[in-house]
Amino acid sequence: MVSDNCIFCKIANGEIPSATLYEDEDFRVILDLGPASKGHALILPKKHAANLFELPDETASKAIVLAKKVASTLKEGLHADGVNLVQNNGEAAGQTVFHFHMHIIPRYQNDTVNVTWKPGELTETDKNEILGLF
Ligand code: AMP
Ligand code: ZN
Repeated sequence: MVSDNCIFCKIANGEIPSATLYEDEDFRVILDLGPASKGHALILPKKHAANLFELPDETASKAIVLAKKVASTLKEGLHADGVNLVQNNGEAAGQTVFHFHMHIIPRYQNDTVNVTWKPGELTETDKNEILGLF
């Protein structure tokens, strides 16, 4: 339920104060303390799950609906030009806090936020391997 020594458990459940934008029985939405852009928010489930793979389906479903609402309010209220939803799983993917969270990052024309990558090439071998997984 709640993991000892997990900072996002403590924030989500109100043991540590945060700039809270929204709260319900399942989630707390807070402002990121190191924002990538103005309005960078985090959606935190109140029950501990380390990452997407541990998150119950029902919570995952609710999280995307909530992300849509938060993204819409931020985009409209801050006159943003776009929004990125970012969700990191595992150290290799850039996760630094091991309690599931979704980043809502408002984007502004010509800002310097970097969530891009250099396009690679889809090889036949990789394609066939991956298609075989499903
Ligand atoms: P990630 O790299 O996806 O695990 O993202 C962790 C995010 O949590 C980073 O954007 C941090 O700036 C943010 N963060 C870490 N500690 C806090 C905190 N106490 N309150 C708000 N945001 C935090
Ligand atoms: Zn936690």
